[in-house]
Amino acid sequence: MDSIDQVLMNSRLHFLGMAARARETAMKLAVLTCMDARIDVSRLLGLQPGDAHVIRNAGGRATDDAIRSIALSQAVLGTREVMVIHHTDCALGRLTQSEIADRIRAATGHDFTDAVGCFGDPIQAIVDDVERLRGHSNLVFHDKIRGFMYDLLANSVTEVGSSPASSG
Ligand SMILES: [Zn+2]
Repeated sequence: MDSIDQVLMNSRLHFLGMAARARETAMKLAVLTCMDARIDVSRLLGLQPGDAHVIRNAGGRATDDAIRSIALSQAVLGTREVMVIHHTDCALGRLTQSEIADRIRAATGHDFTDAVGCFGDPIQAIVDDVERLRGHSNLVFHDKIRGFMYDLLANSVTEVGSSPASSG
């Protein structure tokens, strides 16, 4: 059986409950994090359905696409805070842009030129993403955007950099 068929069967046991009625998030929170399968965002942060928007991509990077989603999350769906969570042992830190492009080229037979957001310094990558969000003109709220490193082995979430001045 394909994995898709397997999880589709799982979905029949899922009941959304009260969260189905509320379009806006209960916690007014957006979380940007990596697609890494080891990150169980809801369980890690204790989120219930309806609590937060979760935007995921490779690395949890503040890409144009991620920022588009956060812009909509804030201006249309009422979120107020943004949490950026990267993690240890991320593929974007283990591999380089050219290694990833080479692998995709080898596997598909086609050139791959998109920047995937690899980083040499994992802490700096978080700082960069937080700064990009805090300075972005498409976001409504810039004062509660904070970055974190999730250490998978230690099972700890640690804030990176200072939280912004709590004005506004
Ligand atoms: Zn990752």
